[in-house]
Amino acid sequence: MAEKPQNTKPTVHKGTTSPGNINPRLSERKGTKENLEVHDYLEGIRRGDRMLLSRAITLVESKLKKHQKLAQSIIEGCLPFSGKAFRIGITGSPGVGKSSFIEAMGQYIIRQDRKLAVLAIDPSSQISHGSILGDKTRMGVLANKKQAYIRPSPAGDSLGGVARKTRETIILCEAAGYDTILIETVGVGQSEIAAHSMVDFFLLLLLPGAGDELQGIKRGIVEMADLIAVNKADGERKRLAQKARQAYQNALHLFPAKDSQWTPKAVTSSAIESEGMEQIWKLMLEYREATKKNGYFEQRRSEQATYWLNDTIDRKLKQIFNQSPTVKEAQQNIHKLVTEGNMSPFQGAEILLHKFIADRKNP
Ligand code: GDP
Repeated sequence: MAEKPQNTKPTVHKGTTSPGNINPRLSERKGTKENLEVHDYLEGIRRGDRMLLSRAITLVESKLKKHQKLAQSIIEGCLPFSGKAFRIGITGSPGVGKSSFIEAMGQYIIRQDRKLAVLAIDPSSQISHGSILGDKTRMGVLANKKQAYIRPSPAGDSLGGVARKTRETIILCEAAGYDTILIETVGVGQSEIAAHSMVDFFLLLLLPGAGDELQGIKRGIVEMADLIAVNKADGERKRLAQKARQAYQNALHLFPAKDSQWTPKAVTSSAIESEGMEQIWKLMLEYREATKKNGYFEQRRSEQATYWLNDTIDRKLKQIFNQSPTVKEAQQNIHKLVTEGNMSPFQGAEILLHKFIADRKNP
């Protein structure tokens, strides 16, 4: 059984920028500096100081240029100490039991003497300000453990932006000594793909459904899964869950073999009764060992690094392009011509690109 929360007050590390101190003398106390330097952050993160880790993540999430610059230096400094954690993605439709599962699984993981960071990718958090992991009363026990660090999804302009910030946050958490990273995504499609680009292992939670077991689940998500857990396998649903597990297991055989050479498995779990955690953890470790042995683990990590390199170049180039004064001047007119059908989109793009290149040559 999962431990009962001793303290129902959520102790979530908020993803928003902290407001200035109400008490202006607060920063003088205990030598706390308001404007910390890169080395203060690095030293604090390496020491496992959660407050400094949180502040550094807030910089990563900030839209302010000076914060972003500082964040990049902190990330650079953390990089040599990152990469060692086991990064696990957890997805499933709303209500399947993701937070309850993480609460149970998280406690199991820290009992294995591991340090756990729980992060999230939730593109809707720009509207709801951190909907998943925002209300963490259900992770009350885990949130109060010193071996666990829970951080809600960053808000962002786009899924890409949110995902990039989460990926950078992984680096900071690893440098702070967290050796297991759980990344929760809400099971709606695009965010799984983003999570997949930064995790070693992907767990899909499903419900014991009746009938056509794989209906309604996006095929792409099932294809990404290394393990399916049919959750809520307790009480009256236990038998149904076992039947569903069998059906999923059979269906998984129909998918083409994976590059990892790992055959995805289907198991049952009950987050509420903490059932299945040991088996799932064992399978995760088995996967890690097998893929480390056959080289897939490293291959995937390097593919992910390439993906993020290209993604960052694409994003930066677009940013510079959109900031070019000549492009800005011509953009509206060309956009009008293209949308009214008086110019082809290709010609429009060519003209703008030429203007951009000319702008770069004669700034
Ligand atoms: P999420 O939206 O995927 O994060 O799902 P939650 O963890 O919030 O769970 C949704 C509801 O399902 C809550 O009322 C939970 O108490 C319940 N729930 C979650 N896991 C289980 C489980 O293993 N068994 C049962 N019976 N209920 C569960």
